[in-house]
Amino acid sequence: MAAQVTNVAVLGSTGSIGESALAVIAASQGRLRVVGLSAHSRTADLLRQAQQLAATGAAPRWLVATDPQAAARQDWSGLPAGTELLIGHDALEAAVRQPEVDVVLAAIVGSAGLRSTWAAIDAGKTIALANKETLVMAGSLVMGLAADRNAKILPVDSEHSAVFQALQAGRKHEVHRVVLTASGGPFRQFTAERMASVTVAEALDHPTWNMGPKITVDSATMMNKALELIEARWLFDLTADQLGVMIHPQSVVHSMVEFVDGSVIAQLSPPDMKLPIQYALEYPNRTAGVSPRMDWTRAHMLEFQPPDPERFPAVELGLEAARVGGTTGAVLNAANEAAVAGFLAGELAFMEIVPACRGVLDHHDFDPNPTLEQLIALDGWARQEVSRWVCT
Ligand code: NAD
Ligand code: MG
Repeated sequence: MAAQVTNVAVLGSTGSIGESALAVIAASQGRLRVVGLSAHSRTADLLRQAQQLAATGAAPRWLVATDPQAAARQDWSGLPAGTELLIGHDALEAAVRQPEVDVVLAAIVGSAGLRSTWAAIDAGKTIALANKETLVMAGSLVMGLAADRNAKILPVDSEHSAVFQALQAGRKHEVHRVVLTASGGPFRQFTAERMASVTVAEALDHPTWNMGPKITVDSATMMNKALELIEARWLFDLTADQLGVMIHPQSVVHSMVEFVDGSVIAQLSPPDMKLPIQYALEYPNRTAGVSPRMDWTRAHMLEFQPPDPERFPAVELGLEAARVGGTTGAVLNAANEAAVAGFLAGELAFMEIVPACRGVLDHHDFDPNPTLEQLIALDGWARQEVSRWVCT
């Protein structure tokens, strides 16, 4: 047993990142311990996770079911002894602030993750950040708060983890450019005509990564890369001119940093989120872990090509939002969440997602220095607007 145990609160534990995080923690030989878990509507899975942890002698101190209706329907009689059940978002905001929490893994999907991540930063916790939407919506305010509270924000997003690792090869003023890689998603080689008729099932069939439905659709439109450009802008304090994107279908090079002398440092590993999750949870230590490794006894082909702006206009939208800042990230993020939900519900065509976001963005009341309350209000406004843009 390791001398020092890091207590981790896993927010969004029933999701793709949450499940991977629990596998990383289980394999950590006692260095990492789950202190609390949260999930929204999948309460049966949440309860099962708590029971599995209890069976290993490491029952979590608390569970938060953020959806009160789902919580009311769940039979909680199997709740492990010593685990407290809490309900709703306010309870989650209070739970992450508790003194026994060392690291908060923010893995709730979408803008629903903002408030709990904000509370954890406010309490000075170390954040392992998967919920990129927090920085996309409120990057300037979030980074300001983190500096003020001395809270570390460690990236979980694989591209940002790669950049974070590569940046350690030089100093801030020596960075020339950061290039985020993108798989190109399932429609990388589709014509514009073919893309016009893609189905939900096709969009959810990602060639290299296994992720939750929202980010999988974002990957197909490349809106995920747009959000990641904005995330990188805030996380690493870069200008939009220092940011670029390359399509890399193998998803082995997770991103690169080019320094002023022309040297490019990349991070490589098989496409599996357990590695960036582990790096964030165990930072600054590297341990053997459970992630798959590269096979350096066989041949590999690594390709890079610039994205096609005609078929993937989202990338330019992301660069624009990274450049302009202010309210643009929150509006783009909310419009996209609503448009993706519309697509998944069969109410919006795939190729309408990005134009709907562009329409809402062009239409909004821009403010260069918004407050958090303003951003949350705009989040609601942009969602409404998407339905209007879809109908017209
Ligand atoms: P997911 O859909 O698989 O899981 C989402 C989790 O959030 C679930 O536990 C769910 O219960 C919870 N949740 C959903 N709605 C909620 C709400 N309204 N309030 C509170 N909790 C809610 O998503 P995911 O793919 O694991 O992604 C999680 C986050 O990580 C996203 O921000 C995504 O962009 C980011 N991310 C994911 C991956 C990946 O490989 N999946 C990679 C990089 C970044
Ligand atoms: Mg990513």
